[in-house]
Amino acid sequence: MTSKQLTLSWVVVVAALLLTACNPIPAEPPLPVSVSTPGPACAALEEMAREALASTPPPPARARFDADDRKAFAGSAFGYLCELSEEVGPRESATQEEMKAAAFLMDRFTEFGYSPEIQDFGGSKTAKEFAGPPSRNIILELPGRGEGVVILGAHYDTTPDSVGANDNASGTGVLLALADRLARPPWSNQMVSVFPFTLRLIAFGSEEIGLRGSWHYVEQLTDAELDDIRVMINLDSVGSGTILSAVGNPWLIRHVSESAEREGVFLTTSRRGTSGGFSDNFYFGYAWVPTISFAGDDISRINSPDDAIEFINPVLLGDAAVLILDLLASLEDLQCRCR
Ligand SMILES: [Zn+2]
Repeated sequence: MTSKQLTLSWVVVVAALLLTACNPIPAEPPLPVSVSTPGPACAALEEMAREALASTPPPPARARFDADDRKAFAGSAFGYLCELSEEVGPRESATQEEMKAAAFLMDRFTEFGYSPEIQDFGGSKTAKEFAGPPSRNIILELPGRGEGVVILGAHYDTTPDSVGANDNASGTGVLLALADRLARPPWSNQMVSVFPFTLRLIAFGSEEIGLRGSWHYVEQLTDAELDDIRVMINLDSVGSGTILSAVGNPWLIRHVSESAEREGVFLTTSRRGTSGGFSDNFYFGYAWVPTISFAGDDISRINSPDDAIEFINPVLLGDAAVLILDLLASLEDLQCRCR
């Protein structure tokens, strides 16, 4: 991989904002050193991405995250994306490759300070169990100072013979970058977050063969556990193109549109009542959980060998990370204005 092969395209940020929203989250401290220790290839690519990000226009003055934050998120997510796509490689659903990717994620989440839970599914003929080969979800939780649960999810498997740089090492990379940051001040202290709800992060398995991981997760919840889940945020293929899109519940779309304006992130939005797109948000929406799902505007190479790292735009990864953190910080009461 040479620098010429790394095609980076750029989002032009419009800085013309007059927002007056309050900010319940304290300012970020100096950027911490990431616990990530990528291999040499990814370290080199991550460095190239960080250099390319140097020319990113500054966000608006009222933004919660400054230019250095955005670059740090983008670089961090890009590094994890690189590890998944270049070092772990193809992660075909419900195979040993997928298990290897799950082990990689367990290592990373544990390094950040979480106690991740493995949720196995498939491989059983019992009536309650979905037929199909074994696979697993990885679940971690960051308790907050209030009731209710917000789920942030991304699938980590791929179709055969695809390294899935965009679909969905990009979403998983952002999930890892956020998990890393959220485990430390000012976002949490001793693994209790500043949010007024529990944040549950889930890396779903076997999305590519019928949303099996998210189906299993929703299916095994009790009624009370399902009632506790107030919001599901999904990340799938957020790494290619020049602009992010968000599809979902109108209440969440309103919140994230405000976040995008505040942070100077271009975002296209589409309101849909109970679900948006066929990804892991689907079964949550089907169970009446308000959902929102993020993607980039170029999904032309997904599910193919062409879904490679040279088509990743790291700017989108940073955009997705700050949008989600800003959205989480703005969800104070979790009361869905669902109409
Ligand atoms: Zn996907």
